[in-house]
Amino acid sequence: MNDKSTLSSILVVDDDPAVSQLIQCILTEEQYAVETASDGREALARDDLKTFDLFILDINMPAMNGYSLCTELKNSYEMRDTPVIFLTGNILPEDKVKGFECGAIDYITKPFNGSELIARVRNHLEVKHNRDYLKQMALTDGLTQLYNHSYIHERLVEEISYTKRHELNLSLIMFDLDNFKLVNDTFGHKQGDKVLQKVSRSIKDIIREEDVAGRYGGEEFIIILPNTDHVSAFKVAEKIRKSVKNLKWDNRDMKITLSGGVSTLSKESINEFIEKTDVLLYKAKHDGKDKIISAVPVMN
Ligand SMILES: [Mg+2]
Repeated sequence: MNDKSTLSSILVVDDDPAVSQLIQCILTEEQYAVETASDGREALARDDLKTFDLFILDINMPAMNGYSLCTELKNSYEMRDTPVIFLTGNILPEDKVKGFECGAIDYITKPFNGSELIARVRNHLEVKHNRDYLKQMALTDGLTQLYNHSYIHERLVEEISYTKRHELNLSLIMFDLDNFKLVNDTFGHKQGDKVLQKVSRSIKDIIREEDVAGRYGGEEFIIILPNTDHVSAFKVAEKIRKSVKNLKWDNRDMKITLSGGVSTLSKESINEFIEKTDVLLYKAKHDGKDKIISAVPVMN
């Protein structure tokens, strides 16, 4: 998520170095961080592709043209909302229509005017930042700043289909705080909220950047671990269990622990996958709490 203090970053893709350098020069002057690539292939090969806030694409380029690149970007879950502007010598209406059909937000023809480019870029970035902010608000749980139930569901659908397509591993951890009702009843709801926030922070500190953590219900948490087998997922769950158990609280009588279930996707649907994990979580509860149970026994 971008905040106002970070520079917006722009990738310019054009096979003519004179053009990309000119654009870079104009936009750098406006305090944007501008990178360049000489065609679609080179752009797609960049590790930092997902971090750009806006793309400016030429259309006619040797290895992969702008239409194909734009289509690739719009097919990507992470980049489909990143604005794409075509900046091209193709001036025919049908070229423009094709550009918009590929998902571009704007179309500028060469020769272009620098001030007009700046004005258009500025507007598209503003819309993008506002949308990112609203999206973030809609996707996160206000109290814990973890993702909310509906986002987790949507994301899990995506991850399951990606995992099946690429024959990878996908693991799921579900946690539930032990005796949370008692904590609320004994220490008050304000304390209860603090517990949820501190536990969420522990989870965020431990998981990797590619893992997706959410608050699934009142005191229930869920973590999606892409490309992770059950042994590694179990280790993550254990690490979180221990770290939560060791959290320090203002009130020394307060003891916070959690129980968890860990499973790895085989051929289930999303509901079966969640159900399978939830069953393990409840097994951990009935087995005395403060423990993690995995679908396949893991030596600790
Ligand atoms: Mg060209």
